[in-house]
Amino acid sequence: FCVFILYAFTNQVAAEESTALREARDEALRANQAKSDFLAHMSHEIRTPLNAILGMNEMIMREASGKLKKYAFNIKSAGETLLSIINDILDFSKIESGKMEIVPVSYSLSSVLNDVYNMVHYKAGQKGLAFHMNVDPDIPDALIGDEVRLRQVVVNILNNAVKYTPKGSVTFTVKSQGTAENDTLELEFITQDTGIGIREEDKEKLFAKFQRLDIEKNRNIEGTGLGLAITVKLTEMMQGSISVDSIYGEGSTFTIRIPQQVEKYDPIGDFNTRI
Ligand code: ADP
Repeated sequence: FCVFILYAFTNQVAAEESTALREARDEALRANQAKSDFLAHMSHEIRTPLNAILGMNEMIMREASGKLKKYAFNIKSAGETLLSIINDILDFSKIESGKMEIVPVSYSLSSVLNDVYNMVHYKAGQKGLAFHMNVDPDIPDALIGDEVRLRQVVVNILNNAVKYTPKGSVTFTVKSQGTAENDTLELEFITQDTGIGIREEDKEKLFAKFQRLDIEKNRNIEGTGLGLAITVKLTEMMQGSISVDSIYGEGSTFTIRIPQQVEKYDPIGDFNTRI
């Protein structure tokens, strides 16, 4: 009988414990959701007036000259930095709350790479860095995938390469790894820089949110520590992967692999649309 009482008592305690644990977990999930909703709401509310400020400033820049033009240019640059921080917070809270979606569309790879080249070439040039881009000419141009998110992850690692490279160069290579079945291929984006590099022990911290390494060296470099956390999540959502290789003090290489579908050429459809 005593054994039975003890058994029943232990069961009761275990049941209470598991209910308490479940309630605590539900509460934590609710709190996390509320935090994500709050961040998403705030970011959205801030973005609207900020876009208005940037729009007005654009008009001032067009009319102004001399010192005034310089001031307006500073407003533009600070405003754009703020906008990109807000966009990162918004994206990250969307990812955390499961509201981020991957939307595949038909797009032209060369037009994406063209935009990327112009942007990075300009930023690298401003810092006196050389920028080289090598694209395998055999990659089909008409692809299907989430063009916006693909562009975002590629731009993120390239922006980092420029940001964390005080002198030297950034080299961007685009390859496609073997055409697999079902008309899919794996795009490979490799960003090599001759920058500050990453310590071996820091490599695993790199992709966690709000992580900024090597604070002494990074003091003057702006950043939130969200870029790579977003990049890794978006890459995974696109069924891809990201890896890093680095020698501290010499430079880093980031590789992103993302499967994309090849747009099928439909000669009959093409013929029909032409007649
Ligand atoms: P942010 O650049 O906003 O700080 P990220 O998430 O993009 O945030 O990067 C996290 C950290 O990883 C950076 O603060 C930096 O310390 C390190 N890092 C990222 N890219 C590089 C790179 N190419 N070379 C050296 N360090 C890098």
